[in-house]
Amino acid sequence: MRTIVFSSQAYDRDSFLGAHPTFDLHFQQVRLTLDTSALASGFDVVCAFINDDLSAPVLQRLAAGGTRLIALRSAGYNHVDLVTAKRLGLTVARVPAYSPHAVAEHAAALILALNRRLHRAYNRTREGDFSLHGLTGFDLVGKTVGVVGTGKIGATFARIMAGFGCGLLAYDPNRNPSVEALGGLYVELPELLANSNIISLHCPLNDATRHLINAESLGRMKPGAMLINTGRGALVDTPALIEALKCGQLGYLGLDVYEEEANLFFEDRSDLPLQDDVLARLLTFPNVIITAHQAFLTREALAAIARTTLDNITAWAAGRSCNQVEA
Ligand code: NAD
Repeated sequence: MRTIVFSSQAYDRDSFLGAHPTFDLHFQQVRLTLDTSALASGFDVVCAFINDDLSAPVLQRLAAGGTRLIALRSAGYNHVDLVTAKRLGLTVARVPAYSPHAVAEHAAALILALNRRLHRAYNRTREGDFSLHGLTGFDLVGKTVGVVGTGKIGATFARIMAGFGCGLLAYDPNRNPSVEALGGLYVELPELLANSNIISLHCPLNDATRHLINAESLGRMKPGAMLINTGRGALVDTPALIEALKCGQLGYLGLDVYEEEANLFFEDRSDLPLQDDVLARLLTFPNVIITAHQAFLTREALAAIARTTLDNITAWAAGRSCNQVEA
């Protein structure tokens, strides 16, 4: 199957060629957009990542160019117009799970770095400043962690935090017995927000969860609470986060995802002025750490993504089930 791989970085090439050196893969570093969709002409399969544009106009161009399968390298598929894909006869496949540990451990890393101010300490000691003022953290043991979305990643994260001796509150329309077995207590979202010292988001982005964290929900949190988002950027209303940080209602913020990340993340833009004023303001807070959608980025996760994506393509070509997602 002739496959074009959009938004591919060197680590993608390494993992895909490592998984199957002879697969007919054509790597493109550019993001899939309406402008770049012409590159896919004549390719049966378009392999896409989370910030590729899979809206109706792009899907129409892909279908017209002969594409029949969209093989996502991600678990999330909120960026695909599934109704249009179905109408055009395009199959959409995804990687339902690759390493929940990769994302859950990154959420834990953000918590530890924010709490113990590692980002500040790192810079300080390199400047010869060995003072400790402003670096006071808190013991995690005995604190309450609120887990929003307790699927594969949320449950893995809950297990890590239980290991630190934290109490667990959970919110999810579907209870996960493995979280209850850890002592996790399922409550409604307002109760979770009001009683958690740390809140971590692990639910998918959809109409029900868009801006789940907004001015109102931030106001319900304990003053000085920590919020971690490794889910999707639009789960939070970013300008509302800035207001909550300014007044101290939000004490710490760790983001691996950002609503407007598509034109920024995965690229080196260090030579250019940052045009996004909201992101620029967020980056001024000493109690905010932003990573550029790297929670998935472990060797194990990359290998699993490559393996499952190529298995999906092979299964689809043979008419077998291929982790298809439908509207
Ligand atoms: P999953 O499907 O195993 O779990 C999602 C859970 O969210 C399910 O238990 C579901 O019932 C729950 N849920 C659905 N609607 C909800 C709501 N309104 N409120 C609370 N919970 C709700 O998915 P997963 O593999 O655990 O991944 C979770 C999300 O993590 C993905 O959708 C994706 O957006 C994100 N993700 C991010 C990265 C990254 O690199 N930052 C990598 C992989 C996945």
